[in-house]
This record gives sequence, C-alpha cells and structure tokens, in this order.
Amino acid sequence: MFEKEEFWQNRFIAADHDYEESDIVIVGLPFDGTASFRPGSRFGPNAIREASWGIETYSARLKRDLRDLRIADLGDLEIPFGNAVQALRKIGPVIRRVIKDRKFPVVLGGEHLVSLPVVEELHRSFSDLIVICLDAHTDLRDEYMGETHSHATVARRILDVVGEGHLFQVGVRSGTREEFEIQGVERVSLPGGETLSQFEGLLSNRPVYVACDLDVFDPSILPGTSAPEPGGLTFDQVTSFMTQLSRFQVVGFDVVELTPHYDQSRVSAITASVLVREMILQFCQS
Ligand code: MN
Ligand code: MN
Repeated sequence: MFEKEEFWQNRFIAADHDYEESDIVIVGLPFDGTASFRPGSRFGPNAIREASWGIETYSARLKRDLRDLRIADLGDLEIPFGNAVQALRKIGPVIRRVIKDRKFPVVLGGEHLVSLPVVEELHRSFSDLIVICLDAHTDLRDEYMGETHSHATVARRILDVVGEGHLFQVGVRSGTREEFEIQGVERVSLPGGETLSQFEGLLSNRPVYVACDLDVFDPSILPGTSAPEPGGLTFDQVTSFMTQLSRFQVVGFDVVELTPHYDQSRVSAITASVLVREMILQFCQS
C-alpha cells in the first residue's frame, strides 16, 4: 500500500487523518467578496497549506509535534461569490457539524468576515463565548459602504452576537474615532508580560474563540495581507500571547486575511502556516 504522507495533496501538514477519526478539523473558507483595498484572500487557505509543507511538524519552542494529534483537513468550502450574506449562510452548517461532532475547528480565511458565521455557530453551543480578535483594525463600523456585512464591520457583528464585555481586541491601531469610543469592547495592550492577567476573572471557565486577522503583524514581517498597517506586532509577541491564552478553554480559532498575490517572497504564507501550527499545538494538547 502507498503511504498517505508520501504524496503531496493540498492539505495542511500532518492533517492526514480522516474526518471521523480526527479531533481537530481544518476548513478553508475562500471568500473575499467584500475586500475593499487589496482583494485576493480567497487564495489564502491554499497558500497556507502549500507553505506548511516547507515547515516542520515539530515546534522547537513548544516541544510538541502535530504528528501526535489527529488532524483532518476538509479542504476549501465552495462558496458563492458576490453576495456576502449567501456566502456566510453556507459556512454555518459546516461549522455546526464540526462542533456537534465535538471536534476543534481551525478556520483558514478568506477575509475577516468569515469569522462571523463561525462565531455565530460557536455561540449557539457556548452561550458565554468570549471572542478575542487580533487585528490592526477595529472593524467596528455598523456599516461600510452601505453593507452591514463586511470585513470592516465584522467585529461589530461579532459584538452583536456575543454582547458587551465578551469581545476583546488585541493589536488594534487603526479605526475611526467613533469606533474607538464604542463601549463594551475590551482592548488588550501588547507588549508586556502577563497582559491577560488583568482579565483572568473574565476569561477563566469561559469558552474562548480566537480570531486572528494577520494584519495584526507588522507589515515588515507579514506584507501579504489586504490592509497592511504599520506599527504591528512581532511574531514573538503574537506567539507569547497565544501561550498566555492557552491556559483558558479555547474552543476554536481562525487565521484570516492572507493575500498571496502581495506576498512575493512567500514569507507571509510561511509565517501564517507556522502560526497555525503553533496555535494548534498551544490550544489542542494531546
Ligand atoms: Mn479585520
Ligand atoms: Mn485588519
């Protein structure tokens, strides 16, 4: 018999388990229908998968290996373009099934708006859900260019779902004055040690979803994204933050907004794939 891992298929490295036997399920959501500045994040999931074949399954930092986990990669969901609401409607049932089967969802975007149906489904199962958004942008507009559902409004829609006090933002450095004045959003400042300890009481014993818009990184290390914003975080800052988060009950995460066409060196895709590996290893202990 041939060994599965000897052949390149477009799946995330070490994600070679069947869905039924898996504990962790990767799903690509290649939607970028509301991208306003630099479209192309629909190609993000496959760029992350491809880059993952150049990295190790073992994390030297965490001393853990993806090979010790049971991971499936469903591939990319076919999503209709041009109508965001229709597109989002296709995502919900997939995530619902993954949660119902008690598997840990790992979502690869796509634009940031794809976080919304994932959060909606998780919130059905975990009514006390906390969402932690890593992002350069507030994304808190009530509407953007006449659209209520957009990459620029996704955090506002998430706030509508989870309610005040349940949305945390990390790494935000761009938004309108009105967005920064919106009540009920906790902002975590980085860098600096145990930044989450002040929220210990809020986060402990609550299910946590982590939404990572890759533009939270500084564009010098991750240029391949739709709306790069200077003054961002380093890789160590982000991974240290994930280490802090790992003491809480993380129930899923996404990594969104990689736009491979602006990533000529492919370093952005590689960084994103290492981040996905580190997040899986942090949040899903074998
Ligand atoms: Mn965003
Ligand atoms: Mn952003």
